[in-house]
Amino acid sequence: MTRVYLSPPDVGPADRQALLDAFDSNWIAPLGPDVDAFEAEAAAFVGVAAGAALSSGTAGLHLALAALGVGPGDCVVVPTLTFVATAAAATYLGARPIFLDSEQASWNLDPDLLEDLLATRARAGSLPAAVVGVDLYGQCANWERLEETCHRFAVPLVEDAAEGLGASCVGRRAGAFGRASVLSFNGNKIITTSGGGMVLSDEPALVQRVRHLATQARLPAAHYEHDEVGYNYRLSNLLAALGRSQLRSLEAKVARRRALRARYEEGLADLAGLAFAPVAPWGEPTHWLTCVTLDEEVFGAGPETVRLALEAADIEARPAWKPLHLQRAFAGAEVLGGAVAEHVFTQGLCLPSGSSLSTSDQDRVIEIVRSVAARRPSSPDRS
Ligand SMILES: *Cc1c(COP(=O)(O)O)cnc(C)c1O
Repeated sequence: MTRVYLSPPDVGPADRQALLDAFDSNWIAPLGPDVDAFEAEAAAFVGVAAGAALSSGTAGLHLALAALGVGPGDCVVVPTLTFVATAAAATYLGARPIFLDSEQASWNLDPDLLEDLLATRARAGSLPAAVVGVDLYGQCANWERLEETCHRFAVPLVEDAAEGLGASCVGRRAGAFGRASVLSFNGNKIITTSGGGMVLSDEPALVQRVRHLATQARLPAAHYEHDEVGYNYRLSNLLAALGRSQLRSLEAKVARRRALRARYEEGLADLAGLAFAPVAPWGEPTHWLTCVTLDEEVFGAGPETVRLALEAADIEARPAWKPLHLQRAFAGAEVLGGAVAEHVFTQGLCLPSGSSLSTSDQDRVIEIVRSVAARRPSSPDRS
């Protein structure tokens, strides 16, 4: 039996052909027609004006914040429960992250805490330079409230939609919120270019600014002319061809991830002490990762015991994100709240959720989780 991964790339013959076609077209060098088409197709799917394809989602966060004017000495609000890149991007620009706890309803940025923070800082005349919200595990944050609050305080909002592509919120797609949004096409994301990302926005000038910074801030001239110091962050044409092909199968991949979550619920929901990540009323998540929380007292084992039981069968599961305010990299950073994020971290476990996961492999996962629950000492038969 081969190893079962948490969320491996899901590529097929059509993807292989798209890559080879791009190769044969001789557009090997950085840019080319597939980059332009990938940007247009991704923007159209999400429902925004424009996109700039980049070498990673992290590069996208970096340049989205740069294009919004974030700089040295600024503060940027980010959720503490997220992947490190969300906060690292602010640090690249010399800004400091302020970490906010999650709300219980979606595990995403708590709008009440944001409201309090912005009100306090407005009075002190020290508003943050930007707020970054995240669509954790394929579920949209409460964008209606986050947008309303940021608009009221005139603070630019960025959507880190790296985990959110394919989800929606009050009738709009993930990636359509805030002044700019960021997608990731890393290998573990819902679609992949092996590595890549994109900045999307309804403001073409903002996207143009990102593209300029990503292309060494080079001006159109025969010689090399630069009006500022930029970066080498563009996506290669070969990878954009792969991205276009992956985008065509996005909706099928979303459907598969949703079906996996539904099947995990069927197979595990009766276990006492096990709960699924909440689904908030405002959107339709992709369930990029199916995440459960385990109450050790009741379940009889914590997430690490279950993770190791799966690992013994060559199945990869992962703890939930470790909150960034607990990371040494951000020691001393300001944090508001943190109990919800810490609870998700200490109890959370992400189960194999790849769109290529077979039913029989998912059955093995379910069986192992159930067998750990059955080992609990004083367990009367609960099933
Ligand atoms: C994956 C991810 C990123 C970074 O994307 P890369 O393409 O890997 O650089 C940023 N934010 C979140 C929330 C992510 O999950």
